[in-house]
Amino acid sequence: MSPKYIFVTGGVVSSLGKGIISSSIGKLLQARGYRITIQKFDPYINIDPGTLNPYEHGECYVTDDGMETDLDLGHYERFTGIRTTRNNSVTTGRIYKTVIDRERRGDYLGKTIQVVPHITDEIKRRIKLSGDSGDYDFVITEIGGTIGDIESAPFMEAIRQLRWELGKDACNIHLTYVPYLKAAGELKTKPTQHSVKELQSMGIQPEVLILRTEVHLDEPILRKVANFCNVDVDCVVQSEDLPSIYEVPINMQRQGLDAAILRKMDLPVGDIPALGPWRDFLNRMYNATKIVTIGLVGKYDLQDAYKSIREALIQAGIYNDRKVVLRFVNSENITAENVEESLTGMNGVVICPGFGQRGIEGKIIAAEYTRTHNIPTFGICLGMQMMVIEFARNVLGYTDANSREMDVATSHNVIDIMEEQKNITEMGGTMRLGAYDCDLRGGSHVHAIYDADRIRERHRHRYEFNNDYESEYEAAGMQCVGRNPESDLVEIVEIPEHRWYIGAQFHPEYSSTVLKPHPLFLDFIREASAE
Ligand code: GLN
Repeated sequence: MSPKYIFVTGGVVSSLGKGIISSSIGKLLQARGYRITIQKFDPYINIDPGTLNPYEHGECYVTDDGMETDLDLGHYERFTGIRTTRNNSVTTGRIYKTVIDRERRGDYLGKTIQVVPHITDEIKRRIKLSGDSGDYDFVITEIGGTIGDIESAPFMEAIRQLRWELGKDACNIHLTYVPYLKAAGELKTKPTQHSVKELQSMGIQPEVLILRTEVHLDEPILRKVANFCNVDVDCVVQSEDLPSIYEVPINMQRQGLDAAILRKMDLPVGDIPALGPWRDFLNRMYNATKIVTIGLVGKYDLQDAYKSIREALIQAGIYNDRKVVLRFVNSENITAENVEESLTGMNGVVICPGFGQRGIEGKIIAAEYTRTHNIPTFGICLGMQMMVIEFARNVLGYTDANSREMDVATSHNVIDIMEEQKNITEMGGTMRLGAYDCDLRGGSHVHAIYDADRIRERHRHRYEFNNDYESEYEAAGMQCVGRNPESDLVEIVEIPEHRWYIGAQFHPEYSSTVLKPHPLFLDFIREASAE
């Protein structure tokens, strides 16, 4: 069958959860046997979100092929198990860069370059790239931002043209918001009507409307919206607040969202898939009442900054029949005096990734405390580097040990800049990015956890363990148990005597999914839950 295109736009306000909805649609179509992919088109000028502060844009998610992307790609992978690539994340900046580079080469043969058609054509070309590969039946494209934004106008024009060109092979889904006004005791559909009018004024008629709401919407409201927005009533569904984002696909299926999409695209509807493993996961989630408390030692005090780590821990908890309670501990506030108090009640501690000086001393103090108190500890990327520095300072006796990132003049650079990073001056997209092989030492803790000799994990860093110190670490009890077979870079350290003290230079959280939780997180939670 020719590839089908689904466009997901959002109206009224941002943060309605377009990523979760797009992932849920992907999941439901996949359950019907279709091959799907999901991509995000973001209307900002940055080439990718790699240079953005997490406070601006939450976590930066990294694909296998080394693209720094929007955190919604994490949802796509966690919900559907697909592996995204650099084609799945595109920004206005990348679109313009391609067009401008082409113009400089003279490819436009003297033409005046304009938003329409040149920018819109490039958007259309990129939207269709995955579909053209022949690997997918459905390509779901989520457009970032909110209808009416100046920035998203070229994207809207591109999807208007595509819907017109592709006919029933394309479908527009619009996610909007229905607020409940407490004082009036009323639900208001006017913002939705306005949002759809705005779309219509750009020539786009949504086929399906998804109404985000905090309060259940009764049939008359759905009818009213259908009537005012020219949408079939069975194509208006609601997305109420739910206890878990992982309920959303079930809720959407219950209301027939996937069936509505298939009907609109002239495809057979068939039986409703059972979603067995997904329901099993949810059942386990609701039956897991025993609590395991995990401290997240980091510097970004916002939920989205460590999104994939949070989700990987929650998933691993469910598979251990535990409810994971996550407690953020701001490393900037941790001192030798208060570390005990800051970490009381934690069954395990994750030392989070990050960049720059701020908050690192607190991470080092936390790593010392958990090492000397035998508390399960998982260091990820910068977190692993802090474990290594702490060990150098307090066990090897190098009190000035540091990373070159934090102190270029340190005489004990146990974490050093990677050779190939030394002459790099541009910040964007130049780190060690994407998936690399890693060989695991036989007999090590991680070898037993992965039950494999060779693994492959995603990276995002510039600094690395300094191999000059390896023998000293090994002799003192911190083992270098994972290495890159080509470059010999140390990717994992562990302390075998400790209950669970493992640092990974890579980011295992990126590849943990609902139906395939990551072994390191599974084992970390298992140990943290042990009584
Ligand atoms: N700042 C460290 C580096 O560049 C760690 C990066 C990270 O935690 N992702 O090596």
